[in-house]
Amino acid sequence: MTPGGGSGPMKDCEYSQISTHSSSSPMESPHKKKKAAPKRKWEVFPGRNKFFCNGRIMMARQTGVFYLTLILILVTSGLFFAFDCPYLSEKITPAIPAIGGILFFFVMGTLLRTSFSDPGVLPRATPDEAADLERQIDIANGSSSGGYRPPPRTKEVIINGQTVKLKYCFTCKIFRPPRASHCSLCDNCVDRFDHHCPWVGNCVGKRNYRFFYMFILSLSFLTVFIFAFVITHVILRSQQAGFLNALKDSPASVLEAVVCFFFCLVYCWSLRFSYIFDQLQSNNK
Ligand SMILES: [Zn+2]
Ligand SMILES: [Zn+2]
Repeated sequence: MTPGGGSGPMKDCEYSQISTHSSSSPMESPHKKKKAAPKRKWEVFPGRNKFFCNGRIMMARQTGVFYLTLILILVTSGLFFAFDCPYLSEKITPAIPAIGGILFFFVMGTLLRTSFSDPGVLPRATPDEAADLERQIDIANGSSSGGYRPPPRTKEVIINGQTVKLKYCFTCKIFRPPRASHCSLCDNCVDRFDHHCPWVGNCVGKRNYRFFYMFILSLSFLTVFIFAFVITHVILRSQQAGFLNALKDSPASVLEAVVCFFFCLVYCWSLRFSYIFDQLQSNNK
């Protein structure tokens, strides 16, 4: 039996209308399930995210590049502390491993905070809320009966005397705030969406962009720090036993220098790329 009585079966075109009469969704008719523990929004609408520790940790589904970031930082810093720091601390000052250690813990802390925290996901509309919104739109359009029409793509609201255009997200079924965007990888709308960063395995948005920029900044300091002292280590050894013998004595230094060098290359390239992208965007505006 169709829920609409006389009206025919509902068509599922590009946009599937929410039906308030179906009883399949766990979010509907909350008065009937008062005894059950209330479900949190992330449990009902997980998007494409993974959740751990009762929702305290969230990550994107594809985390392969994030593990690569983690391995690169751990291996490079580990080799530096194991092979360069004993020599440098003896010949120059013990402050080198101490400063390196502080930088390393800061980098790891900001990386994990960026990767595991909520970037500012906007909760999706529950079936009831979505149906209510559609009803309001129908009333506003003056079409109380007749065929079904999907909601308009934009809505204008007045905030502090200024007209602001809100876009409708057909996946989340909400009108999203001006600077929010839908991340296709995580399948969620994110407030003040900056970009989806595969290196940290998460979106960068309103709630984690501070940690993201602290991570980028501290990682640049750590890379320059390791690179500078690896070169110093090799130069000091070469003065004693020649350049080739210095490389033979400390092969790990070569690997660290190569990783740091390539990080600097990628970093400068991405800075230049984002500069060009900003220029293009401002030209379009
Ligand atoms: Zn969305
Ligand atoms: Zn994302």
